[in-house]
Amino acid sequence: MKKLDGKVVIVTGGSRGIGEAIVRRITAEGAVVHATYNSSSARAQQIEKELREKGQHIHFHQLDVRDSMACTKLVEEVLTLSSQVDALVNNAGITRDTLLLRMSEQDWDEVISTNLRSVFLMTKAVLRPMLAQRRGRIINISSVVGIRGNAGQSNYAASKAGVIAFTKSIARELASRNILVNCIAPGYIDTEMTGKLNDEQKQALLGAIPLGRAGTGDEVAAVVAFLLSEEASYITGQTIAVDGGMVMLP
Ligand code: NDP
Repeated sequence: MKKLDGKVVIVTGGSRGIGEAIVRRITAEGAVVHATYNSSSARAQQIEKELREKGQHIHFHQLDVRDSMACTKLVEEVLTLSSQVDALVNNAGITRDTLLLRMSEQDWDEVISTNLRSVFLMTKAVLRPMLAQRRGRIINISSVVGIRGNAGQSNYAASKAGVIAFTKSIARELASRNILVNCIAPGYIDTEMTGKLNDEQKQALLGAIPLGRAGTGDEVAAVVAFLLSEEASYITGQTIAVDGGMVMLP
């Protein structure tokens, strides 16, 4: 018996980076995964094919997490295919980095909509089935930037701090219904998102990490797998930093 056998889990942004690592890890642990992609359709198809060949349970769906109707429709599709939704991992996210003086309203709105509003939309969409089942797990991928702030990322930091506050509030609202809600705050993880940073920015980040290296998507995925498992049955409303010691929470 694997740790997540038969658990039906939705993962947004599963086509690349941290989301892809989460999809690979939890399908290997036995979960039935409904992952979403927005634009990386070829990549999603390739991951789906590879995992199905290994006998794992994976369905990829196209979803723009900014679209409220599409979020509701996705959950309906998952219920049609798998009859239940045990967990949701809100992972999809973007950056539009620039100093405040140069930040456009569009830079602000796109980041808030993709990183924060989407968490509200997807959480609301899974709520009815989770309430009916009297159990559920929701994991939101925030960032250490949402805790400590970062010059040039005021839009992103605000979105990720919002995700943490949303998590705490929803954890309190839903605890009596056996729905556990937590956040993971990754630090500097090697993905296409951080690949955009210049060498100077990368060196500055590495200098702030006690473990002295970037993390991997697999290291974030391992914590997601734990939070989805029965072993994490007494943890809710928390933010767990996976950051090599960059931010040490009290
Ligand atoms: P990537 O840029 O590698 O991947 C982003 C994922 O989000 C892709 O699967 C992409 O889908 C999806 N996505 C983007 N926009 C949308 C949208 N409008 N609708 C649906 N899906 C969308 O990012 P990472 O893997 O690095 O980041 C994943 C999460 O982790 C994000 O929330 C990020 O903020 C967070 N994080 C990352 C850190 C890092 O160091 N990398 C550090 C802290 C937090 P597609 O390719 O199909 O368009």
